[in-house]
Amino acid sequence: MGKDVADLVVVGAGTVGGWASYFARRSGAKRVVVLERDLVGQGASSRASGVVRSQAGTPATVELGRWSIAFYRSQRELLGTDSGFRELGYMILATTAREEREGRERVAMQRSVGLDVRWLSPEEAVELNPTLAPEGHRGGSYAAIDGCIDPVRNVRAYSLAMQRTRVDLRERTPFLGLRRTKRGRLRGVETPDGVIATERVILTGGPTLREVGRLAGLRIPVGAARHQVVVSAPHPAFQVERLPMVFDIGRGLYWRLEEGGLLWGMSNPREMPGPAREIDWRHLDAMRRRLARLVPVTRGLGIRKVWAATIEYSPDHLPIIGPAVTPDGQTIEGVTIATAVGHGMMWGPAVARIAADLALEGRTGVTDVSDFGLDRFDAQGRSRFYDPVALPFPVSFDD
Ligand SMILES: Cc1cc2nc3c(=O)[nH]c(=O)nc-3n(C[C@H](O)[C@H](O)[C@H](O)COP(=O)(O)OP(=O)(O)OC[C@H]3O[C@@H](n4cnc5c(N)ncnc54)[C@H](O)[C@@H]3O)c2cc1C
Repeated sequence: MGKDVADLVVVGAGTVGGWASYFARRSGAKRVVVLERDLVGQGASSRASGVVRSQAGTPATVELGRWSIAFYRSQRELLGTDSGFRELGYMILATTAREEREGRERVAMQRSVGLDVRWLSPEEAVELNPTLAPEGHRGGSYAAIDGCIDPVRNVRAYSLAMQRTRVDLRERTPFLGLRRTKRGRLRGVETPDGVIATERVILTGGPTLREVGRLAGLRIPVGAARHQVVVSAPHPAFQVERLPMVFDIGRGLYWRLEEGGLLWGMSNPREMPGPAREIDWRHLDAMRRRLARLVPVTRGLGIRKVWAATIEYSPDHLPIIGPAVTPDGQTIEGVTIATAVGHGMMWGPAVARIAADLALEGRTGVTDVSDFGLDRFDAQGRSRFYDPVALPFPVSFDD
């Protein structure tokens, strides 16, 4: 058997690794191997809620959302299939004076970078989304271009794209570590089937990226936490073509149309970090009461589906995309880290495109990525930056 060689090895076949391998092939990388310890899409990517938004907290993250939406819209023409993007519009609701002030400031920042977003009074919000209670909120920001994808269809779309561009997907094949020369240069990756010789690696892993990092001798400050999603029984109020999605940002509760009912998701910042193992019914009930106050028709509405899955997060909610840097500050040439930290549906394609660009060319035209590197964290994982539009994740990283 000949030597196993690749121009690029991607670790993880979630939405970030999957799309990155496709973009790398489209950019001319000849042999692209994707290592997946499990089966394609079996991480967070098939379990997400699918919410996609351009309304983010920094100019660079606004661009990640916009780029990803444009990509989802172009998929049919590019690939003959798609991730099921549906434009629904998105309201980020304020329920306190502080949230309103911060929301209005965000609208000004987002408009300054050309995003079509505006502030809605409570009356305007109810006019756009008549299922919303007239009281209990102060209106919110609104962008018509935001929407959702179908996460399972997205796994199918990138799997097909990988197959058509002849990406070499190796399922049930874990990445075990990097092979480096005595001087530290990358020369390959270790798998149970032997070493793949390569000078370029993209490390993904979603909620397990910290473990993937450890295998590569890196400290990546990515946490993992439980995130719960519910799909309600159908209701005539939700049997409509278009109704804006809503994010009750202060409580980390969001909802959108799903199969004639409402899909709603939530994180609990008070629980301990770690993988999701079961449903937290107490928190779910508290959020159900909250939802019933803001969307009165959901009071007493049955539940059709519930799931809990593990989501990833970073201390500043910004993605991590850039060169691998060891705890003693040494850059490992050829190794790129890529995670959308809990925003893989809304930012995943852009994060994947940037990772492929950085791995192959050392630069990207997608957006300014200077704040996204691993070098922004200190030894305790503290960052200089912060994106305030995020779910309220646990504050610590212990698990
Ligand atoms: C319940 C839930 C709801 C969510 N809702 C939304 C939403 O509405 N909008 C949004 O933008 N985001 C949402 N997210 C977040 C989104 O799903 C993630 O950000 C995204 O899926 C992460 O993609 P990924 O490719 O980085 O990771 P994953 O999809 O987790 O893929 C990583 C892959 O790496 C593999 N792997 C791990 N270790 C190794 C190894 N050693 N060797 C080889 N392979 C390895 C894993 O098996 C996995 O398949 C949600 C997440 C959850 C859990």
